[in-house]
Amino acid sequence: MSTDSPISLWDSSSVEQERSDPFLVGQHFDVLIVGGGFTGLSTALHCAEKDLNVQVIEANQIGFGGSGRNCGLVNAALWLPPQDVREQLGSTYGPRFIELFGKGPEYVFSLIEKHQMRCEVTRTGTIHAAHSAKGFKDLQGRYNEWQRLGQAVDLIDRDRVSEMIGTRAFHGGLLDHRCGTINPMGYCRGLARAARNTGASISTGVTATKLQKEGKQWIVETDQGQVTADAVVLGTNAYTGDLWPNLKRAFTPIHYFQLATKPLGPEADYVLPKRQGLWDTGQIMFNIRRDSFDRLLVGSMGKLIGDVDSGLSHRWANRQIKRIFPDLGEMEYEQAWHGQIAMTPDHLPRVYELEKNLYTAIGYNGRGITTGTMFGQSMAELLTGMDPNDLPLPITKLSTVPSAPLLAPIFQTAFTANQLMKSL
Ligand SMILES: Cc1cc2nc3c(=O)[nH]c(=O)nc-3n(C[C@H](O)[C@H](O)[C@H](O)COP(=O)(O)OP(=O)(O)OC[C@H]3O[C@@H](n4cnc5c(N)ncnc54)[C@H](O)[C@@H]3O)c2cc1C
Repeated sequence: MSTDSPISLWDSSSVEQERSDPFLVGQHFDVLIVGGGFTGLSTALHCAEKDLNVQVIEANQIGFGGSGRNCGLVNAALWLPPQDVREQLGSTYGPRFIELFGKGPEYVFSLIEKHQMRCEVTRTGTIHAAHSAKGFKDLQGRYNEWQRLGQAVDLIDRDRVSEMIGTRAFHGGLLDHRCGTINPMGYCRGLARAARNTGASISTGVTATKLQKEGKQWIVETDQGQVTADAVVLGTNAYTGDLWPNLKRAFTPIHYFQLATKPLGPEADYVLPKRQGLWDTGQIMFNIRRDSFDRLLVGSMGKLIGDVDSGLSHRWANRQIKRIFPDLGEMEYEQAWHGQIAMTPDHLPRVYELEKNLYTAIGYNGRGITTGTMFGQSMAELLTGMDPNDLPLPITKLSTVPSAPLLAPIFQTAFTANQLMKSL
């Protein structure tokens, strides 16, 4: 079922349009994909390129999950420093993962270019901004490691970062030249269009309700009827429900909210003049960007409390914008929304083989544009005979986070307290 009101700014501002194909009950597919976000749609595109007969089913609309609600920062690798990723993944997977996902933005931009996706691309990098002197020290460690790996990342001092952002509120930053920004819903719908043009069928408003193995094939029950498939990929991530036992216990769900102002006039041209997307080093992360229509977007971890015109999150946004850009004056907002993120205890994503020919990539910890795209490509390779040992991550059996039901409300309380404190 598609929602009537936009789920995010991007839902209404995307030039790429939504389309749905008829869902043909009783059909058999090589691959059935559940979830119409970056993971599901990239899997569909790459499977279709390999001549597989593919059906995507999405319960709501394309990009209904994190994919249509995010900040649009096309980031490289994970938000863990590369040295931590290597340490946790070991000497085989660590360097492979960092190399492949370091090239993730380039791959995303190449798909956008190839399929002419209309999604407001900027390729001027992203800024990881130091919220404190300690934060800048952390960035120095990341910089040293990226330098050692020969990557196009610059450490920038306070004066230069002030010019680049238009404020002296930050202590310095890491400018990652590999990265950029997009309209994420535009990219999501662009992926859907590319997958469809390559032969995939994508049906929205269809919810998978049960997965059952019969012989070598999967029977997929939906609220519209049943289909069968040789393989099933779940791209449901933080929006995972009860379709597969315990999968929603594989991560801790947290919220992240955004407010977008109405387009600002030329008086805001000094704010992020090159339009890099920015997130900070604070433990409760904060982000800013200026979109192609000069709207300023700010957001942080937690639920949207209130709405676009009033309430705690509205006060928080006013306070943040006043603190960082005091000359901008009063803001009027166009949209406010939140979405869910799937956090894992070690901040690394997972690839699970839930049963034979039933896979999922999940737990992106708030980094999904490149991650979902790259895992979609990996899924297609896996389903067409790639040695699983060549994947960017080891395939593992499902493991749950027993503390997740406790942690989720604790995090939410901390995020609300943060909004309260920072709105005073
Ligand atoms: C506010 C916010 C800001 C973020 N900012 C960034 C950012 O700047 N950069 C970045 O890289 N990442 C960011 N992320 C993370 C990123 O958006 C996600 O990691 C990514 O969208 C996950 O994509 P996905 O395709 O795996 O899952 P999703 O996009 O969440 O899609 C899952 C889909 O599965 C569908 N579904 C679930 N169950 C069923 C079922 N039974 N049947 C049919 N369909 C079903 C849902 O309706 C949903 O559409 C952000 C996330 C949020 C919430």
